[in-house]
Amino acid sequence: MTSPADKDGAKNAVAPSNFLRHVIENDLATGTYQGRLWGGSPGDAQHHAQGPADPAKVRMRFPPEPNGYLHIGHAKSIWLNFEMAKEYDGVCHLRFDDTNPEKEEQEYVDAIRDAVKWLGYDSLLADDPVQPGAVADHVYFASNYFDFMYRAAEYLIEAGLAYVDEQTPDEMRANRGDFGKPGIDSPFRSRTVAENLARFREMRDGQLEDGAAILRAKIDMASPNINLRDPALYRIRRATHHNTGDKWCIYPMYTFAHPIEDALEQITHSICTLEFEDQRPFYDWLLDRLAEGGLIASPHPRQYEFARLNVTHVITSKRKLRQLVEEGHVDGWDDPRMPTLAGLRRRGYTPEALKLFCERSGVTKSGGWIDYASLEAALRDTLDPIAPRAMAVLDPVKLVITNWDALMGEGFLDDCTAPTNPHDAEAGLRHFKIGREIWIERTDYEDIPPKGFNRLFPAYTNASGQAIAASKVRLKYGHTIECTGATRDADGKLLEVQATLVPDTKSGTPGADAVKVKGNITWVAVADAVAAEVRLYERLFAAANPGSGELLDELNKNSLSTSAAYVEPALATAGAGAAFQFERHGYFVVDTKGSGTGQHLFNRAAGMRDSWGK
Ligand code: ATP
Ligand code: MG
Repeated sequence: MTSPADKDGAKNAVAPSNFLRHVIENDLATGTYQGRLWGGSPGDAQHHAQGPADPAKVRMRFPPEPNGYLHIGHAKSIWLNFEMAKEYDGVCHLRFDDTNPEKEEQEYVDAIRDAVKWLGYDSLLADDPVQPGAVADHVYFASNYFDFMYRAAEYLIEAGLAYVDEQTPDEMRANRGDFGKPGIDSPFRSRTVAENLARFREMRDGQLEDGAAILRAKIDMASPNINLRDPALYRIRRATHHNTGDKWCIYPMYTFAHPIEDALEQITHSICTLEFEDQRPFYDWLLDRLAEGGLIASPHPRQYEFARLNVTHVITSKRKLRQLVEEGHVDGWDDPRMPTLAGLRRRGYTPEALKLFCERSGVTKSGGWIDYASLEAALRDTLDPIAPRAMAVLDPVKLVITNWDALMGEGFLDDCTAPTNPHDAEAGLRHFKIGREIWIERTDYEDIPPKGFNRLFPAYTNASGQAIAASKVRLKYGHTIECTGATRDADGKLLEVQATLVPDTKSGTPGADAVKVKGNITWVAVADAVAAEVRLYERLFAAANPGSGELLDELNKNSLSTSAAYVEPALATAGAGAAFQFERHGYFVVDTKGSGTGQHLFNRAAGMRDSWGK
């Protein structure tokens, strides 16, 4: 069976061609990175120098900060980096960019690793073949490079390229200037190398208060690029780090750390989102200087930017998603409404669907918003060919076939069959019963049908005094029935619908279609239906482009409703994560939480393409 996702074949997963492929292909053709060595586990200046030639043609990386769960935007970045590495006989590193001790936690490290694994890229992290006892995979931590980063900082000081600044944060901000105004040199800028080195060591040794000083690169306070106006390299922060504990009270700034991480891991193509375009000159400045000093290999990695993924009605900011979790607006990071990979997974999204979506969203230099509908379309397109079908009644009302016993025999249950998947003959048939009592959708009955209503209604007289006959409807895969009436309670609530069986109309028997029907309806038999809780999810944000206003005001207050439903008997044994197309209703997945407790819990992943009855 071919799903649309693999039609193009794994080789061309990042097709059609994009600007990044041109860059890589050009580097491969000209041998830019041919002479690289690979010494194994990085972390030291000399670690690659003794290594053999790097077996990987390219090295890419996905460098999340472990300060939250990954979201759909990260999926794009993971997909892009891992697929390109695969395509060009390379390796992709999973690197935890854990240079900020205050926000990072082991829980997030584990969740991120899980998400990458789930997306199917675990084997690309591993050395192939994995040697017993060898470093089994390309998972790295930026914090393992703190020693090197510190030495790199001292090197810059010794080369006259960095200084310890003790202006107050306000002074620094004021003296940095802005787009129209050049910055002003700090009075500490002309310190001697010896003075800077001594002061930096005092910073490291805990002799200065948090925030009392920073180490800055000495570049150009008048640069039109504000990022080159002596950017900060190190700050003092007494915080316990999830990996290095209390070893350090100074921590490298992201802009300083990130290029070094890339260089130590011999990354060839460092791909990031467009916000970092203005940082590229500093990325190159820093690595050029460190290469001149012999601290890193040449040629050093290069940074390339692409447009970040924005999806309508979706927030892609770990900070804002964390707010939703911490304030209890959702049921955790894996709430099925969350755009986290953990949430999308519980919602029923498959790795194939997400990869197809990433592929369709393209890799470009200019941003924009992708419609949420295309995320759902990718899910349907991957599930439609493979998901078993089932009938489910989400808003059940009982229908009694009043002549059943007389025609079929008292208590008789007839066998019905239906294809498991109409696109896949090999998937076989599903079996269920029909009897005197069945569950139908409440909305499938009307006393007086509105225009175009082609489901159940009894005989009635219309506004012009015309007698209209009762509707005949096929119970899908079962028999044809004719509606005779309904019972309501004192408040008018529908309690029960009645109908009669039209003889000799069982689906699949000769002459079954001789009687003309208004339409088909889905149903399950009271005798063998399984009670289930079905969660119907809508978009978490009502706002199309959330994130610009007050976060909570943008939430969709009706993003979750639950229903006490009945489903086909075979679904009683469906395992956690199993996906189905509920006929008429869309794609549903067995929740991975709470299942196995005897309860049957289904989450709606996406609705059907077309609405029913049109
Ligand atoms: P967040 O604001 O959610 O924390 P981030 O970019 O700060 O996002 P990181 O953990 O630093 O989060 O991201 C890891 C990688 O994922 C980076 O290379 C980043 O460019 C990429 N990334 C994050 N969000 C998106 C997105 N919406 N589209 C594409 N790539 C993204
Ligand atoms: Mg970040």
